[in-house]
Amino acid sequence: MKRPPNFLQRFHGTIAGQDRTRMFRQRPATVWLTGLSGAGKSTIAFALEEQLIALGHACYVLDGDNVRHGLASDLGFTPKDRRENIRRVAHVAQLMNDAGLIVITALISPMCEDRAMAREIIGPDKFIETFLSAPLATCASRDPKGLYAKARTGEIGSFTGVSAPYEAPIDPELRVDTGTLTSAECVAQIFGYVREKCLQTAAQRTAHSTEA
Ligand code: ADP
Repeated sequence: MKRPPNFLQRFHGTIAGQDRTRMFRQRPATVWLTGLSGAGKSTIAFALEEQLIALGHACYVLDGDNVRHGLASDLGFTPKDRRENIRRVAHVAQLMNDAGLIVITALISPMCEDRAMAREIIGPDKFIETFLSAPLATCASRDPKGLYAKARTGEIGSFTGVSAPYEAPIDPELRVDTGTLTSAECVAQIFGYVREKCLQTAAQRTAHSTEA
């Protein structure tokens, strides 16, 4: 990984993480969704975001397809480019976490090593690796974007699960069976974890407001 020139220093403002936690009434974290194409990453990411926003929580989805229109528009799907895509998204997620937001990422992120890099960049205490587990056959039969069909004919090369590898997480914080559960059940499972880790209870909110 490239290092900045050593004359560059960090400038620290006076606002601490705790200040933002108090303001947003949440501890920031990144829900890192990983799984095959069609496993449900985008569906679940945006549904979870909707639920958190409805409850008044600051959160944002970094969707793999969306970031490829700007932040990563120069990247393809070679292992090196996928790693660079993950590195950039992880840094954006880290900045958003620093700003106090809960981030949900929706990237295939097929390699264990690249997800480990993302964990390192974001910080292990904030990284919630969430494996959306569905059999390849189920994902291919859903084929919501018609990509598996194109991968089979060779129109798309290096397609995860067909012509490129997917390494399932070994010890993720969360494993969600998107092959058999409904998307609402999957979102509820992830929301339960996020509530425990990030969201303040009414009692904590009262304690904070009386401290201020
Ligand atoms: P990905 O972002 O992983 O490529 P998408 O969210 O674009 O996947 O597509 C997943 C498709 O599978 C959608 O058409 C969705 O309605 C369907 N689906 C069926 N069951 C689930 C589930 N449990 N979770 C998420 N999506 C599901």
